[in-house]
Parts: sequence; C-alpha cells; structure tokens
Amino acid sequence: MKTSELMDQIESRIKELATKTEDAKASEEVTQYLRFLSRFHRYSLHNTMAIWIHCPNATHVAGYNAWMKLGRYVRKGERGIPIFAPCTQAVPKGEEEDDEKKTRKVIGYKIVYVFDVSQTEGKPLPQAPIVAQGDGSALLPVLEGIAFDLGIGLEYRAMSGSHHGTSYGGSIDVDSGLDDAGKSSVIIHELAHELLHKGADRMLLSTRQKETEAESTAYVVCSHFGFDSAAPNYLALWDAKPEQIIEAFQRIRDVAASLIDMIEAKFNAEEVCA
Ligand SMILES: [Zn+2]
Repeated sequence: MKTSELMDQIESRIKELATKTEDAKASEEVTQYLRFLSRFHRYSLHNTMAIWIHCPNATHVAGYNAWMKLGRYVRKGERGIPIFAPCTQAVPKGEEEDDEKKTRKVIGYKIVYVFDVSQTEGKPLPQAPIVAQGDGSALLPVLEGIAFDLGIGLEYRAMSGSHHGTSYGGSIDVDSGLDDAGKSSVIIHELAHELLHKGADRMLLSTRQKETEAESTAYVVCSHFGFDSAAPNYLALWDAKPEQIIEAFQRIRDVAASLIDMIEAKFNAEEVCA
C-alpha cells in the first residue's frame, strides 16, 4: 500500500463520519472511535484512524518482530494493518537545531504493517497493571495533583442544576456534590478547557464545539482508566467542515494522550515510592 492511498482512506473515512445524515448513527460511530482512541493513545491521530479502519476490534498492535520478542507469532495468512512510520535521516554535524539536539530528522513517511494480538498466538501477554478502579477513587487524588502541577487552582464548591464545573483560565471549580468518578470526569473536562481553549485563537470556537471537545477528552481519558463518563453529544462537530473536524479530533487526541501520560506517570511514581 502507498502512503497516499492510506491517507485517502483516512480522509474519506473522516468525511464519511462528518456527512452522516443520521445523527444518532454518527454519534455512535464517533463514540466507538473515541473508545478506540483511548486504547491507542500513543499512536498519532492518523495511525489510530488507520488501525480503526483496518481492524476495528484491535486492542494491542505491534510489528511482526516486536511480537516475536514478546514470544508470540503472527499466524500464517494474517493480513497486516498498514500504519505510517517516519523515515528519518541523520542531521549533519553542526546543523542540529539549537533548541533540540536531534541527531535525526523526519524526511517523510512510509507504510509499515502491524498486527493485532488477535492475529497472533504464543505466550500470554503480561497483564497491564490496573491503575484505576471503576469508581474513580484512585484517580481523583492523582488528578488533583496534576492540576497542581499545571499551576491550575482547584476548588470544590456546591453547584446546582446540570452545571458541575467551570474553567476560568488558571483555575477551575468542581461540584462538591459529585461522587469521586463524577469529580474525576469533571476535572478532566475542565482541564481540557484549560489546556485547549484559553489561547486567543481558540476564542473563535463556538461554545458547543468547545463543550464537545472537553467532553470527548473526558470520555477518552475515563475509558482508558476503565470507567464511564457520559458519552458526549458529538453533533456540534458536524456543523464544521471536514478539515475542522480533523483539527478537533487532533486536539482531543493530543490533550487526552498527554493527560493519560501524566496520570500514568503519577501512578507509576506512587508505586515506586510505596
Ligand atoms: Zn465545559
């Protein structure tokens, strides 16, 4: 497969999602995609789309040789899932960028093939440590720590009606009446606003669009840690053009991935200290 073919597949899938006339169906598919994203947060937006298109039930993917190192073998006849991999070139000495002393730079992309665990057999996979319980009780103190690390003030206050949180730019308020899972999901939602919607260029996004992005981020992060937050209403995205939808997915993916990484780093640090 050529890189241009895979790129066309991905773009037409996004356009197809964006032009679904049946609202409920579009929403359901986006929810599926976001759940998928929560399992593959280390992959780029385009690669998660590529895996989703070719193997919608994938849970763990790796290259042929990477599976061998884990003691598993790709079954004969299994078709690889095409993803993009960067082609890099050595940077000549003395020409490194000032800010980063990178010795290689990306000069393009090529297609490589990965396989889902369901296409392999052999030694059982090591179980990933379960870092959060379904009730959010383990996650809440970690999220409070992340807000602190980011320099974002966090206050619990009594709130009424359907309003459970506010992001002010530099500080957030969270409804004190929620349970731990509810508080966790609201903190992630408000942190997403803090990280995504405070720059001057972001003020142009509509309120509905900002809410959809924050809610989608909370959905991805909560599903990664094994508990449900309310599935957002994605229809706000569909007022936008396909390019804008890709940008919105990119923002959701980036901020969800960095929050997941921060949370996992804190969990791991605690394990080491314990
Ligand atoms: Zn919001």
